[in-house]
Amino acid sequence: MRLLKLLHQFKVLLGLGSNLGDKKENIAHAINHIGKTLYIKRTSNLYQTCPTGYIDQPDFYNRCITVETELFPLSLLAFLKDTEIGLGRKRSIKWGPRLIDIDILLFDVKLIYSRRLAVPHKEMLKRKFAMLPACEIAGDWIYPGLHKTVKALYRERREALAVQKIMKIR
Ligand code: ADP
Ligand code: MG
Repeated sequence: MRLLKLLHQFKVLLGLGSNLGDKKENIAHAINHIGKTLYIKRTSNLYQTCPTGYIDQPDFYNRCITVETELFPLSLLAFLKDTEIGLGRKRSIKWGPRLIDIDILLFDVKLIYSRRLAVPHKEMLKRKFAMLPACEIAGDWIYPGLHKTVKALYRERREALAVQKIMKIR
């Protein structure tokens, strides 16, 4: 029991996105691959989202998952980047089209600001496609630094985020 606890010592919220090829499949493959190394706890609904930032590109599919892992943040990031590359992602422009994108939205209650990794993810609070699925599976998690739950932060921002177009996929 103690050993199991050690193996799953960190709880992490991940955001997945895809807007090239078979987007639903890309996200499913990514989750499948992640599940071989990390312990997947919960999976949100799948959403279709209009692109933000660089808007002349196809819609995104987005989904969040919560996982438990013994990997430390930079090892987890390396694993997720390998997963993206393994699934066929090519590096392109920032916020440009991508086969698969896997972001670390929350890593326990840790605040991390390094060149390679910022957690909570810098854009999380501004993105409805992150906050809405995050509320479904991690609504009661504390957002470090602000000391409020994800759900409370989403409620505060809901009106401002309403302009972002997002639709649940059945
Ligand atoms: P995007 O910001 O559009 O997700 P990329 O997926 O290409 O862009 O990531 C660019 C870099 O962002 C990565 O190489 C990674 O080192 C860095 N990064 C910083 N914080 C995070 C985070 N929380 N999750 C994932 N990558 C991050
Ligand atoms: Mg990314």
